Amino acid sequence: MNDQQTLQRTLTSLDGRGYAAYKQLTGSYDLGAFRLLVDKVQVDPFAPPSLMRLRLSRTEAGFPSALLADREGRIATGDFLTRAFAAALRGSHTSSPESDAISIGTPGQQVLERTSVLITEEFIEARLTVGLPAAGRKALGRKAARLLTETLPRIAETALLHASVDQTALQDHVTLYRDQLAVQAQLAERRLVSFVADGAVLPRRSGDSDRPLAEAAVQFRSPESLRVGFELPSGRSLTGMGVPEGVSVIVGGGYHGKSTLLRAIERGVYPHIAGDGREWVITRNDAVSIRAEDGRAAAGVDISPFISGLPSGTDTRSFSSTNASGSTSQATNLVEAVEAGASALLIDEDTSATNFMIRDERMRELIPAQREPITPFVDRVRPLFTERGVSTVLVAGGSGAFFEVADHVIALQDYTLRDVTEEAHRIAARHAAPAASELPATGATATAPAAATGIFATAAARIPQRDSLHPAKKTKPARGRGRDAIQYGREDVDLAAVAQLVDAAQTEAIAKALDRLAERTDGVSDIASMVKSLLQEVDASGLESLSPHRGHPGHLARPRAHEIHAALNRYRGLKVRD
Ligand code: ADP
Ligand code: MG
Repeated sequence: MNDQQTLQRTLTSLDGRGYAAYKQLTGSYDLGAFRLLVDKVQVDPFAPPSLMRLRLSRTEAGFPSALLADREGRIATGDFLTRAFAAALRGSHTSSPESDAISIGTPGQQVLERTSVLITEEFIEARLTVGLPAAGRKALGRKAARLLTETLPRIAETALLHASVDQTALQDHVTLYRDQLAVQAQLAERRLVSFVADGAVLPRRSGDSDRPLAEAAVQFRSPESLRVGFELPSGRSLTGMGVPEGVSVIVGGGYHGKSTLLRAIERGVYPHIAGDGREWVITRNDAVSIRAEDGRAAAGVDISPFISGLPSGTDTRSFSSTNASGSTSQATNLVEAVEAGASALLIDEDTSATNFMIRDERMRELIPAQREPITPFVDRVRPLFTERGVSTVLVAGGSGAFFEVADHVIALQDYTLRDVTEEAHRIAARHAAPAASELPATGATATAPAAATGIFATAAARIPQRDSLHPAKKTKPARGRGRDAIQYGREDVDLAAVAQLVDAAQTEAIAKALDRLAERTDGVSDIASMVKSLLQEVDASGLESLSPHRGHPGHLARPRAHEIHAALNRYRGLKVRD
């Protein structure tokens, strides 16, 4: 009797028995072209679904090695196959509604490294969750037999064999991804923060959809003065707006598309799929969106460049709070992003604390500087660049305060961009107030970053206290709860305000990363080097090395270092050494 018959018989014999009988499925089954590996069987119908893998040899799968020879090719192909598999599942719903019980994860508009499809030298493996069928608490063994021995192999045949997938679409998918990464790799040396191609479609269908606005979208067009070109590995060439290093300010009337442009730049840290409209919006992968987030916790963050001399006497060189205000939370977010290695900050007036950003002349006159704990961002945005090499892209429709510190001012009108730098500088010069004359003069070109001295040079590395990541009440592994939260012991780490986290599978990966970081907390290593060395291991051993389990690692997608920092920094139990 072969494995297929064994599996069929076992499942049939389970029909009508208690659900727990499914447990005996754990193991590995040869199903002809495929091998089914059952890693973990759910104990009851309401528990998280069972974890299974479907493996086939590279020879059997037949994908050309040119596609899979390098890491980029494997990531893009893995993403393509995940989407193909998910589409095949949806497509088979009418003929086999039980296929609903199977999932391979749900990639959104971004192409991310995922654990859903693993490609090695020897095999290709799809990682699935399967809700084993039940009636009440009884196992529906016959239905399960059909699901695992008929439906599943049929879906795999349409989605995992080179002969059956859309080969042109696959090739295009991989080529696009390689081109996108090639643009991203060139940004730093060309001293650009972001590239937004002519013809890009930036607006989304609705506030809760990441898909492109279908009709009436005005395509992006670069102002002449900022237009740059890229020649890509595929032979394709592109033109569009290069957002230069330094300080760039986006202005314009309300509802003219400012936030939409900034959001697209923010998401451009990830490559997008064809048809998204933002596939040629490419941003440095260490650009970080900064906002006010009142109520968040902070542990020992040096926000003294922005806030000092609080009436409470709090030392802002090591600012801790369980409930930060608008301005202190935004300062905390900014300093943490720089600590995590951000080379560019993306800031929207819509989500900023006004008193963190600016203080106007009348207020400077009424409340003298020595009485005001806040040094507004407008006074710090240049030193951030000159001292630390950190650029800023800022949306400011309500205040001209940034004109004099901006290298570039671009105006949006009816979703169309104009370079208004000269006008803005003229206006700034006309209104120049004595207080502002202390600011470094700016020209049309950004000055090169100098050595790290001055206002931002002092921040000390933060070292988590040894036990602060090991709360007594934490007995279970951390886990993601959708995109927005991680359950860590009894705590929920709130990630709703972390704008560049795009996928619940990233959140799940961060949950696993927090557990790995907790294991490494030795009271000596600082946060930045802990995260860095963890990600180096992920590079060497694969994304699934974050998972404590052998076999099916769960549905994980790769987060950036910044979002791992963001989660750790928002964990309310975090304590750092003095
Ligand atoms: P602002 O930040 O300037 O107030 P938003 O970026 O919020 O403006 O955009 C306002 C509205 O215009 C949104 O509904 C957005 O989807 C839409 N929009 C933005 N850019 C475009 C565009 N290029 N074409 C069509 N609609 C757009
Ligand atoms: Mg806006």
